[in-house]
Amino acid sequence: MGVTDIHGRRINYLRLSVTHRCNLRCQYCMPAEGVHKLQHSEILTYEELHRIARLAVSLGIEKIRITGGEPLIRKDLVGFLAELAAIDGLKELVLTTNGFFLRKLAPELRRAGVHRINVSLDSLKPETFASITRGGHLAKVLDGIEAAEEAGFPPAKINVVVVRGTNDGELLDFAALTVRRPHQVRFIEYMPTSLVPDWSSAFVSGQEIFERISQVYPLEPLESAQSAGPARLCRIPGGKGTLGIITPVSSHFCESCNRVRVTATGTIKGCLFDNSETDLKPYLEGSDSQLKAVLKRVIVSKPARHHLREPGSAITPFSMAQIGG
Ligand code: SAM
Ligand code: SF4
Repeated sequence: MGVTDIHGRRINYLRLSVTHRCNLRCQYCMPAEGVHKLQHSEILTYEELHRIARLAVSLGIEKIRITGGEPLIRKDLVGFLAELAAIDGLKELVLTTNGFFLRKLAPELRRAGVHRINVSLDSLKPETFASITRGGHLAKVLDGIEAAEEAGFPPAKINVVVVRGTNDGELLDFAALTVRRPHQVRFIEYMPTSLVPDWSSAFVSGQEIFERISQVYPLEPLESAQSAGPARLCRIPGGKGTLGIITPVSSHFCESCNRVRVTATGTIKGCLFDNSETDLKPYLEGSDSQLKAVLKRVIVSKPARHHLREPGSAITPFSMAQIGG
């Protein structure tokens, strides 16, 4: 299943943001003062988000990732997730979090029907972690990852945004973690947003990440499942976990991109780096068939690719927390 877009890609993955707010202020994602405060009425209600999700699933979306901002800070999230999990036809409900509230919420999330959890963790050193997140405590995230496993989740996938001069010195430490622990560590290329004027100098390509690790560890390629998206997967022979390298900026992600994004304010985007977006709010006033038609239009006409690395390309500045990464 899945909707086929005009470029022949099967679109079956929705990233659904439930809030633009966050308890952290990661340097590459949010300004130090946080994001612009929105009126309560500007954020979609759970009923509205559920309606969008249900119609998207009826169009062929099979996997929904809950994101934000930090999704776990939105009040009553667990009840909403249980209702999403019950949508007929939805095969995977997954969540991306900074891990801070997992000790408290992991058992409820599991009972609600969340299948897997990705945790963002950019450094294994407490000081570097605190600096990247502007004050976060590493121990709390590590404890959250453990709490998720205790609650019965499969080992968390760990997202590492690689930033030159900040955490690229830890590539081998993260690789070594996959030898000892059954996590999938996913290195993500640093994407340009409004917050990073000197973005290019801090950018580390997936190819460089791969080469730097493979100078020390042999890397055995693995097949990636369609729903695993664009991660290039490999493993260190004999290791308990796996490594993923995600290259949204430098390469070929676009040809196999299977996702669309809906923000907490009700904007749907076919591509993170395309300036075009559609406000779903007016359509939420109408019938299901009208809303479904607009969802289908956006999905089917998803842009072929982004133009980030082409001279003269311009994206409207944004903070990743507003869209959900
Ligand atoms: N708060 C949750 C978290 O941190 O996992 C979910 C939202 S966060 C915006 C989703 C993902 O986007 C995280 O893995 C984060 O590291 C990633 N992200 C944020 N800004 C980014 C950037 N400039 N480049 C690459 N990834 C980014
Ligand atoms: Fe918050 Fe996640 Fe953005 Fe960090 S990456 S500021 S945890 S939304």
